[in-house]
Amino acid sequence: MNRLPFNLWFVLLVAILIAWAFSLTSGQQPVGQVAYTNFLNEVEAGRVAKILVDGRQLNVTPKDGGEPYLTFAPGPIDTTTIREWGEKKIVVEIAPPRRENPMLGFLIPLLLVGLLIGIFFFFSRNRSPSGDSAFSFTKSRARVLTEAPKTSFKDVAGCEEAKEELKEIVEFLKSPARFHEMGARIPKGVLLVGPPGSGKTHIARAVAGEAKVPFIAASGSDFVEMFVGVGAARVRDLFETAKRHAPCIIFIDEIDAVGRRRGGGVGGGNDEREQTLNQLLVELDGFEKESSIIVMAATNRPDVLDPALLRPGRFDRQIAIDAPDVRGREQILRIHAKGKPLAEDVDLALLAKRTPGFVGADLENLLNEAALLAARDGRKKITMKDLEEAADRVIMGPAKKSLVLSQKDREVTAYHEAGHALAAHFLEHADKVHKVTIVPRGRAMGFMMPSRQDTLHWSKKRLTDQIAVALAGRVAEELIFDDVTTGAENDFRQATDLARRMITEWGMHPEFGMVAYQVREDTYLGGYDTRQYSEDTARRIDEAVQKLLQEQHDKVLQLLSEKKEVLERVARTLLERETLNAEEFVRVVEGEPLESEPAAEPPKEEKEPPRVVPKVKPNLGGA
Ligand code: ADP
Ligand code: ZN
Repeated sequence: MNRLPFNLWFVLLVAILIAWAFSLTSGQQPVGQVAYTNFLNEVEAGRVAKILVDGRQLNVTPKDGGEPYLTFAPGPIDTTTIREWGEKKIVVEIAPPRRENPMLGFLIPLLLVGLLIGIFFFFSRNRSPSGDSAFSFTKSRARVLTEAPKTSFKDVAGCEEAKEELKEIVEFLKSPARFHEMGARIPKGVLLVGPPGSGKTHIARAVAGEAKVPFIAASGSDFVEMFVGVGAARVRDLFETAKRHAPCIIFIDEIDAVGRRRGGGVGGGNDEREQTLNQLLVELDGFEKESSIIVMAATNRPDVLDPALLRPGRFDRQIAIDAPDVRGREQILRIHAKGKPLAEDVDLALLAKRTPGFVGADLENLLNEAALLAARDGRKKITMKDLEEAADRVIMGPAKKSLVLSQKDREVTAYHEAGHALAAHFLEHADKVHKVTIVPRGRAMGFMMPSRQDTLHWSKKRLTDQIAVALAGRVAEELIFDDVTTGAENDFRQATDLARRMITEWGMHPEFGMVAYQVREDTYLGGYDTRQYSEDTARRIDEAVQKLLQEQHDKVLQLLSEKKEVLERVARTLLERETLNAEEFVRVVEGEPLESEPAAEPPKEEKEPPRVVPKVKPNLGGA
């Protein structure tokens, strides 16, 4: 590596300065230095008892117990002089010859300082138990747990779908050979997508724990350095380490720090980051067929990742680790309350209800704070009051502004999502509800997820109903509150896009016929449009889009007005439970009771199909 990181140069410079200062001071002898001529006078006067000759330096001991002093001869002391001194009854000692190196006085302090710096870096590193990452800037800073982590799936509350999907990976890591023999293709890269603190690291560690394999953790930001090549070298080193410990899991937190789209930066992008990302891609592709390393990465922003990272054979599998709903929160509280003495009055289910928006890390933090509060008062048990006060503290915490969901926000969201869900349920050609939730995800306050359909072709009726479903959130708001919110922005974009494409691309509007007004080229980084129509047509298209949306809006308004009672019921249940799966949703719509309370203790085995992070827009281009 011919380039060193900036901070290393700085440290070296300081070291050299210190060493220089050292060598200056070691050249001077502060105590009792005497001019050579004065020393000669002393010898003449017979006041010298002993001389230690050390090269040109003379250590002089006077007679009658005077203070010893130093002096320097102009040249080497020859034997004649020594004989003369001997005649004067002066004891003359000659120091053993030193292999004098002029650099030595300089080098020794330098080495000392270097050693100090080394020790400093050794400890400021991640105290890696193997210790092999010390002293080198190009080594990865990965934390290697050679012993498999103790965490297991039992320690991960909720996230049933994610666990279900990850079981396959556990099986593979347990006996890779079996899978290789079958020629099965195992994903190398798994991307865990979810907000900070939702348990991505936790679940990745649990996978390693279940499979009993080492867990090698690094963070994307470890690879971001100012100097070209350092990040790439660290990536290489990370994978080298992994190969030594295979089968194992590499976990890269905050992968977006290195994995951002290339070439996007102003002024040609960032050379160093591109190199690092390229190296990561090379390493991902470079696994041999029979390797048994699984790379898991976490991010909150899959949208900013370079598309190359998501290609098949790399991070081609995405698993959502969402913020927990009320049931999930209760389970997490139970897990972390183990071993903490709780008072009689503590009701974790109630606490879970009062902490919407909290992720696993917040809940863990909450219990800790509560324990501290109790301990400070010298109490033996944590009370409900402690827990509630701790919840307030966590909300007040500096980084937690996003947690503060007002009751009003939640209500609006509940009706909005209930509106989408009911439209999807009652409109004949719309995709049915797979899940509806008011747990925030990304910038969405909640979402209704339609069940996946297998058809490649979209019929006109289905598209029309889909537009109606998209508008239904806003319609529900209109119907219930005397005001509307910004929450429908994305819905409008989606509805407008569908309506426009029905007219300009899919020939589904009688007035416009089967003309392709717009050609959509799908390039790698998203599409661009070529418009092929006149100004006048543009205006007519706008009008037709508007009319289509208005018609669907009115259709849904009528539907939801008729079903207002059901809308209320679904919204209230959502406020209570936050998430409803397909079956629960239908029960609520039909007015049947749900099983009494969120069952918390034995985690419910939900038999939902494994879920991937949904694309924002349905992929309609298909054919
Ligand atoms: P992320 O990696 O998503 O930022 P972490 O995995 O670091 O979040 O989670 C922080 C802490 O929160 C973990 O140490 C864990 O104790 C706790 N936690 C998060 N999610 C869960 C969960 N589902 N079950 C139990 N504990 C959780
Ligand atoms: Zn909506």
